Amino acid sequence: MRVVVIGAGPAGVTAACVAARNGHSVILLEKNEKIGKKLYITGKGRCNITNTASMDEFIKHTVHNANFLYSAYHNYTNDDLRKQLNDLGVPTVIERGGRVFPRSMKSSDVNKALEKWIKISEVNLFLFENVTSIQKNSCFFIIQTEKNIYEAEALVISTGGRSYPSTGSTGDGYDFATKFGHRIIPQRPSLVSINLKSPYPELAGLSLRNVQLIYKHKTIKYCEFGEMLFTHKGISGPIVLKLSALEHFTTENAYLEVDLKPALTDEILEKRILRDFEKNQNKNIKNALKDLLLQSLIPIILKKAEINSNKSVHQITKKERVTLKEKIKHWDMKIESLGSFEEAIITRGGVDVKSVSPSTMESKLVKNLYFAGEVLDVDALTGGFNLQIAFSTGYLAGNSIGDKK
Ligand SMILES: Cc1cc2nc3c(=O)[nH]c(=O)nc-3n(C[C@H](O)[C@H](O)[C@H](O)COP(=O)(O)OP(=O)(O)OC[C@H]3O[C@@H](n4cnc5c(N)ncnc54)[C@H](O)[C@@H]3O)c2cc1C
Repeated sequence: MRVVVIGAGPAGVTAACVAARNGHSVILLEKNEKIGKKLYITGKGRCNITNTASMDEFIKHTVHNANFLYSAYHNYTNDDLRKQLNDLGVPTVIERGGRVFPRSMKSSDVNKALEKWIKISEVNLFLFENVTSIQKNSCFFIIQTEKNIYEAEALVISTGGRSYPSTGSTGDGYDFATKFGHRIIPQRPSLVSINLKSPYPELAGLSLRNVQLIYKHKTIKYCEFGEMLFTHKGISGPIVLKLSALEHFTTENAYLEVDLKPALTDEILEKRILRDFEKNQNKNIKNALKDLLLQSLIPIILKKAEINSNKSVHQITKKERVTLKEKIKHWDMKIESLGSFEEAIITRGGVDVKSVSPSTMESKLVKNLYFAGEVLDVDALTGGFNLQIAFSTGYLAGNSIGDKK
């Protein structure tokens, strides 16, 4: 069959190479000057390509529409991906949490491997080809770019989501899918920082380890333990990104609480504060908390507790001491919004999976039309799971073309 694949990210490259391996004549169209621009910036330039978790764990780490991915994950596993990369000259290593990286720790090596795969598979790659519209007559898909027109018997849309649009993922696939009658689930940024109503720009860049972040909305309470980071507009870092990916995350009537001392019970923290107070009786309160809190947090917590930071420790009332403890355990923060698509790692929403076959990635509405990667309404947590989604769905789409069993 004559196949056109739109978008040369990990999903599109995999679909194209697998379809070509199966004997199809494949054209891969990419609007950028090179393939995999987003892949290049993954994992802070190191590319956390997949995870060693079992495929059942993959399902658990997939936040949205996990069951839809069951066949894709099992048809092309993390081991298959690592073997493929190894065969292309990029051995991988395992880091903390089962995260898999190229041994060189360079995402550019993964891109080079994909370029090599395209070459040996004899896929016809055309760069600077921005697809602007797609039509279909009784025989062919007619794909119009800014410069050319292509015809195909089978078409794969793998144009990515909306996040980091500077890499080429500008949501074009949603318009193409809509034209073919597909429903598009509204998108929102995910795995992204959280903007606060009253941010702490003076703390920007400060990282807090071993803290607990609690999200509260009506009866929902969700806790994450680990590392967070202050930004000019709010907070970021691993536990914040994870919270931002909550299935039912909302900014309406929701708020956050930071527990700066999750390892200490209220009673133990109370004793700790009393001990520090005894030791520093004649000091100002702002100088008496240095063993307990980071210097830069002291004025903020004292302000929250409405305690004058120049007050002497021996003047602090019991009520003030209790409030101080409360604010250390329950530092409340009101949510303004999620960070923007410009900085989000992933897009939540996209092509509704109800109209796509989970065992082939083919559209249930249009024969020989396939979807792969982030353009679909699927997303997972950090740890290499999102790239595995792209590779696995790309493989399944490419391998299903022309297979009418
Ligand atoms: C900063 C950052 C770090 C990340 N780190 C990780 C990580 O370490 N591990 C992990 O698992 N995931 C990570 N991700 C997520 C991961 O990069 C994506 O999930 C993955 O790239 C999606 O692959 P894709 O092929 O579906 O889409 P994309 O990689 O977005 O590729 C889509 C391609 O389609 C092209 N395209 C779009 N429209 C058109 C058009 N009209 N015509 C022609 N071409 C078009 C685009 O230019 C692009 O090249 C990260 C994301 C970001 C933003």
